[in-house]
Amino acid sequence: MLCLTGGTATRPTRTLNWYCKRTTIQPTGGAGMEDVLLLNGREQFVRQKGERHQTLPISCGAESVAGCVSQRACVYCGARVVLNPVADALHLVHGPIGCASYTWDIRGSLNSGESLYREGFSTDLRERDIIFGGETKLAAALDELIVKYRPPVVFVYSTCVVGIIGDDLDAVCKAAAEKYGIPVLPVQSSGFVGSKSIGYQTACDVLFNLIEPPKKTMILRKRPVINYLGDFNLAGEAWIVKSYLKKMGVDVNVVFTGDSRYEEIRRAATADLNIIQCAGSMFYLAQKLEDAYRIPFLQVSFLGVEDTAESLRKIARFFDESAIIRKTEEVIATELHRVTPEIAQYRTALAGKKAAVYVGGGFKAISLIRQFREIGMEVVMVGTQTGRREDYEIIGDIACDGTIILDDANPAELEKFMLTQGADLLVGGVKERPLAYKLGIAFVDHNHDRKHPLAGFDGAVNFAREVYTTVCSPVWSAVKGGVSRGDL
Ligand code: SF4
Repeated sequence: MLCLTGGTATRPTRTLNWYCKRTTIQPTGGAGMEDVLLLNGREQFVRQKGERHQTLPISCGAESVAGCVSQRACVYCGARVVLNPVADALHLVHGPIGCASYTWDIRGSLNSGESLYREGFSTDLRERDIIFGGETKLAAALDELIVKYRPPVVFVYSTCVVGIIGDDLDAVCKAAAEKYGIPVLPVQSSGFVGSKSIGYQTACDVLFNLIEPPKKTMILRKRPVINYLGDFNLAGEAWIVKSYLKKMGVDVNVVFTGDSRYEEIRRAATADLNIIQCAGSMFYLAQKLEDAYRIPFLQVSFLGVEDTAESLRKIARFFDESAIIRKTEEVIATELHRVTPEIAQYRTALAGKKAAVYVGGGFKAISLIRQFREIGMEVVMVGTQTGRREDYEIIGDIACDGTIILDDANPAELEKFMLTQGADLLVGGVKERPLAYKLGIAFVDHNHDRKHPLAGFDGAVNFAREVYTTVCSPVWSAVKGGVSRGDL
């Protein structure tokens, strides 16, 4: 789909990559994959693990290569993913109506009572607003919405066109905050100012500004209290993790941001520890909280049996209290006893199958490599939208020889490597689903569209069951027999 052969004098070839060239994928050791079509400029973002287990010198965290159809979402999307689960907030998108479609309906997140965050609000900027400015319309929208819904906090997202016409979001939000006595926070998220990672960072800055310094008086607690960062409670995952922690004797102060409330966010600085599930979106906030309030943080993962057990032990070790350590082992033993037999059944059926992984953050990719091993499958392609260098180093260490590793992939690369690597399954998000289906390859959604939790011990069973159900479905033999895969 991306090969437009031969740049010509009339094409802007200095900035766009109009043609592909055959490239040898650089391995970390051993032989490379010969003659793979890659767009110009993509060579440094794709690697194949070789035989000597060297650290992968892969490029990441860079702007997408011009001319590629990046699978990454925009800055506004990144900010929205992080902030939208704040359930009692009013979320107003300042821009054309199309940007506002990126709302709760397609970025689902469960909550325990509030529903305001599920409403989609937009200033619906039209041509006239673009020419004469949208500030008056924004102020009017804030007046109408704040009077009607009485939210404790408002987030106002800027979009591409607002960044271009230069509406003074800060000034309009400040005036509304003074008028109504509530925080009205500008989220400077014009889509073109960077990648989705910048949106995460912008949202973290907004959240950090809501957090109040802890009061000087000593807080006497019977149980330690933690903040849980980087879980958006897409299908109730935050509730599962909270239930383990409760049994261990650890209380959760606030989840950033699944099923969270304004008042909970304000008191985040009182926690004893921050744990981070999604490092791509929340590592920055954890660092800020450590710098400002000396709250230490731990990277955890509740994806897969092995990682869930190890993460619970990590938290218990941090507090180093015999009662917590004992209860943690009890929780793990009980859960393992319950889930292991069912997972073992799927493992037998799935032994030897191959998986391809393309997800948002690096830590999810790392956990998935381990989780597929738990169910007898090998990951043969793994990539992320926003993985960090440290993430790729771990991926390079734990991936099997021959695994294709790629950052900020485009559809052509994903399709190509799913086929050349012989994947039976792709794990990804909504944008990757059709890529797999049209190739006759099974697909598992590990993003915001799913309706069942994939975290914790129950999530591990759900994951294994879903992988088994789709990979072993008889439909694939029928599809593969009848559909040409084309010349990719
Ligand atoms: S790229 Fe710009 S126009 Fe597109 S959704 Fe993002 S903010 Fe809106």
